Amino acid sequence: MKRRELCRLSLLPLVGGASLLASADPSGSPLRIGGGEIALQLSGDFTVATRKEMHLWITRSADAIARYFGRLPAPRFELRLTAAPGRGVRGGVTDRDPALFVGARVGRETGATEFLDDWVLVHEMVHVAVPRLPRAQDWLHEGLATYVETVARARAGITSAEQLWRELSRGMPQGLPQAGDRGLDRTHTWGRTYWGGAIFCLLADLKIRHASQGRLGLQQALQGVLSAGGNYGEDWSTAKFLGVADAAVKQTSLSDLYTEMKDQPMPVDLDAIWRELGVVQRPDGGAVQFDDAAPGAGLRRAIGG
Ligand SMILES: [Zn+2]
Repeated sequence: MKRRELCRLSLLPLVGGASLLASADPSGSPLRIGGGEIALQLSGDFTVATRKEMHLWITRSADAIARYFGRLPAPRFELRLTAAPGRGVRGGVTDRDPALFVGARVGRETGATEFLDDWVLVHEMVHVAVPRLPRAQDWLHEGLATYVETVARARAGITSAEQLWRELSRGMPQGLPQAGDRGLDRTHTWGRTYWGGAIFCLLADLKIRHASQGRLGLQQALQGVLSAGGNYGEDWSTAKFLGVADAAVKQTSLSDLYTEMKDQPMPVDLDAIWRELGVVQRPDGGAVQFDDAAPGAGLRRAIGG
């Protein structure tokens, strides 16, 4: 699958960022979405047609985020887009220097279809909605970005419920512990960071929903973090993040799950989860089907919209 190359969370700004930004497009005014604004900085020779598609893509992505979190993840952040050869969106990064920003390279020939298919921008905006955490918990940041992006785009109608569950059910086996695994805090492989973190998020979502008789989920826990001022502009301890998220749903689900998964390879039976939720995978890898008689079919619909 095309998805989940590394994003460069909290590393360096875009290569040559300062000089590129000096020639950024001065004509753009901030985009106002979800109670906040995004200051758009374009670097390079995008055509008028591409800029028009980019505007739709940014608005659509920010709207998906604002719907999930109830608002934009920060009152204002910069979106720095740099023209690159070819098609597609690559090289997403979230950082602050000191202003919060999301950066990405956008191919000059990117068209409406590729923009519609893009996951990078929503992924990076999820990072903006989560406080900066210690490096040992990069898996938590990347897991949240991977899981919430997939859910938020489906909820907003950019993708479908079928695509949501197909992506999670195909991707998550890559996040299961392998031989020698020492838990999520101590196993820094690609699979455990992105998909292991996403498994943590799915388990947390299900745990919160079970404990609240379906009234609450991971979404409300994360909204609580944002309401408490926790976005990427802030440095939080992992204990604080989990504690504030748990308090928002009046549970200890996230902290309890972290204790189970942080320093040991907790086994997870993904097939049992798909059976519970009524997600039926096809052996040929085609579209998943839904079993609405499954005991957790309602949970599945609650997550996926
Ligand atoms: Zn990321």
